[in-house]
Amino acid sequence: MIQIKTLEEIELMRESALIVSRTLGLLAKEVKPGVTTLQLDKIAEEYIRSQGAIPGFLGLYDFPNTLCMSPNAQVVHGFPTKEPLIEGDIISIDCGALKNGFYGDHAYTFEVGEVAPETKKLLDVTKQSLYEGIRELKAGNRVGDVGFAIQNYAEKHGYGVVRELVGHGLGRVMHEDPEMPNYGKRGRGKKFVNGMVVAIEPMINMGTHKINQLKDGWTILTRDGKPSAHFEHDVAIIDGKPEILSTFQYIYEALGITSDEENEFRQKEFIL
Ligand code: MG
Ligand code: MG
Repeated sequence: MIQIKTLEEIELMRESALIVSRTLGLLAKEVKPGVTTLQLDKIAEEYIRSQGAIPGFLGLYDFPNTLCMSPNAQVVHGFPTKEPLIEGDIISIDCGALKNGFYGDHAYTFEVGEVAPETKKLLDVTKQSLYEGIRELKAGNRVGDVGFAIQNYAEKHGYGVVRELVGHGLGRVMHEDPEMPNYGKRGRGKKFVNGMVVAIEPMINMGTHKINQLKDGWTILTRDGKPSAHFEHDVAIIDGKPEILSTFQYIYEALGITSDEENEFRQKEFIL
């Protein structure tokens, strides 16, 4: 059942989402060759707790860490390890936080040092596919409209859209209804109404959309060993329109990037 949120609840969700956003901003400064994903995990856990929140993934379905850390051919749900990052890697970092009874949950794929141009393009297209999807998240549209927009954009660039893992409703529970696939047909699926909050999270592979799962029961990786990217925002429907609750602006500030990509999806100006 879809849980509709009040405007007050959506403001609490924005607070949780922004704790995740600031955590990712903090990590953006630390992602470089030589650092281990376990070190990053510790930084994230400390920061989230300093904000009066609880790491949203730690213990969820028995996941043992604060962050899902998925380098290169890993799609999602990788574990932090003692393995140092290497120049040219990409690392997808997914982070959750629970505060005031509501979850924030969003993700970004970072470049480690200088990455190959074709890898950079995968990241750009995956991030843009997220916004193509968000644009369709308006009252009266349906789940399939979002999935279609993401799939259409990613496949136009020759990439594979992961089928087995999907976005989701978000609220007092990390994974609420509806499921939000990154593929679909226009006009199909549940209809969007005001007060819905969802996590939209395209997982896009440079090659085949097919995946394998490691025997650890968690780590998902591409079947052909080519890289995969993952970007996720938390989005509410307010006054019929999509309103992004999370932000990549803390990451961009850390990396010295200027971007107005989120402006279209904010009803009020966002100030860092
Ligand atoms: Mg996530
Ligand atoms: Mg999610």
